[in-house]
Amino acid sequence: MTRLDQLNDLKPIYDVVVVGAGPAGMAAATEASAHGLEVLLVDEAASPGGQIFRAITETPLHDRRVLGEDYWKGRAAAETLLASGVHYLPGATVWHLDPVLQFGLSVEGRAAAVTARRAVLATGALERPFPVKGWTLPGVMSAGAAQTLLKASGLVPQGRVVLAGTGPLLWLLASQYVAAGHPPAAILDTTATGNWRRAVGALPAFLRSPYVAKGLRLLLRVRRAVRVVSGVIELSIEAGDGSATEIAFRRGDRPMERMAADHVLLHQGVTPNVNLASAAGCALEWNETQACFRPRTDAWGRSSVAGIAITGDGSGIGGAEIAALRGQLAGIDAACELGRMAPEVRDGLAASVRARIAAYDRGRHFLDLLYRPADHFRLPHDEALACRCEEVTGRHLREVAALGVPGPNQMKSMLRCGMGPCQGRLCGLTVAEVIAAERGVSPAEVGYYRLRSPVKPVTLAEIASMPREERDEKAVLRV
Ligand SMILES: Cc1cc2nc3c(=O)[nH]c(=O)nc-3n(C[C@H](O)[C@H](O)[C@H](O)COP(=O)(O)OP(=O)(O)OC[C@H]3O[C@@H](n4cnc5c(N)ncnc54)[C@H](O)[C@@H]3O)c2cc1C
Repeated sequence: MTRLDQLNDLKPIYDVVVVGAGPAGMAAATEASAHGLEVLLVDEAASPGGQIFRAITETPLHDRRVLGEDYWKGRAAAETLLASGVHYLPGATVWHLDPVLQFGLSVEGRAAAVTARRAVLATGALERPFPVKGWTLPGVMSAGAAQTLLKASGLVPQGRVVLAGTGPLLWLLASQYVAAGHPPAAILDTTATGNWRRAVGALPAFLRSPYVAKGLRLLLRVRRAVRVVSGVIELSIEAGDGSATEIAFRRGDRPMERMAADHVLLHQGVTPNVNLASAAGCALEWNETQACFRPRTDAWGRSSVAGIAITGDGSGIGGAEIAALRGQLAGIDAACELGRMAPEVRDGLAASVRARIAAYDRGRHFLDLLYRPADHFRLPHDEALACRCEEVTGRHLREVAALGVPGPNQMKSMLRCGMGPCQGRLCGLTVAEVIAAERGVSPAEVGYYRLRSPVKPVTLAEIASMPREERDEKAVLRV
């Protein structure tokens, strides 16, 4: 691997540009490079690993029991990358991609353009918004953010820590805190009781998947060390002297209960990070089971825009193992598309990869049904900020939705939601679901924000820092 430290080290054109150095991006990049292609791998993080393997090459945590063996599998992926011919540019944010496969990216306040013969987006997943009352209070953060602090800095929150929500990551973080000797005070489990009934049909397949043993071990470890409150149907976080001090919750038809908390870690699943793909013109589709939008792709990850493939959790939530395998498929297909192998050879190489995906997929449906967040927790509390950037509350959204706005773009022009620094990453799903609920239709009919470049904030100084011909060229190429 060649680590690029500055934009000047970049070549103007690469065979393949991969965005995202998580399991999918690392697999796609090393696979494509292994077939002799010139590959650039870009990630805004300082080191490879993505979400699951965050800081795998530099984590301060050496006791492997804390993060668990799944995390340390990332070492092998990172070493394969280090041993490959890939050009790796860390600390680089990609804010533009267009149908002629030109990227706009920035490193430390300077920007550049790079062209690819094939683009592979492995931009991963984002935590689903959880807009309950008090979710923006100091002392409240997402479980994934807290886990990133654990992986990258070895930090655990002090005092009374309450985890609230649903989804594998919530239980994983609880078990990592237990292993670190800092068990949370409680887990408020919002998994809808009806989900078990809906998921039971998928249980036999789940029991034949690789997820069972480790899932059971994890749940047992947590339930032995942490108070678990199940069947939570209502949740709000109360402030005392400006930060979170108490969490109020209701179980079934019981009266409201309260619990003291210094830190509240929220989580209700992850959804594909669709912003760059959508701004590049790739079509999105609604996935009813996972209750989220994802890019429309074929069996190789090819999107609706020629030359752009989308892989990993960014193409649909499948988990880390499936993400890496899908990345490998995208790398193999890029090599075939760029003339490095015949389709029959490609199909032969892909067969074993697909078989492994199928093994993990057997367990996916059960997890998706069991951990599908309840409808009312996907909609914002009236007093909660649904759009944190522009401070638009759930009540604002509902009032405007009641006026009959058909979709999120009209809502955006009326309330500015989605116009802030996150460009709708945090509110896009919520806004679509509020409108869908108001109209009594599926979010599939409402659609998602129409996103444009730049998908991440870029300063004029960055644009001005681009080499002249790139700047001129960009002006011609519809920025
Ligand atoms: C906060 C969080 C923590 C998670 N922790 C775990 C865990 O511990 N165990 C587990 O099994 N699953 C975890 N997951 C689920 C996770 O989605 C996957 O399992 C796995 O990491 C997906 O791999 P991926 O390669 O598709 O994407 P990711 O691993 O998410 O990698 C995507 C990469 O793309 C980069 N990127 C995105 N947009 C841009 C851009 N515009 N410019 C440059 N770089 C960009 C990101 O920096 C990131 O490094 C977590 C998810 C989240 C959101």
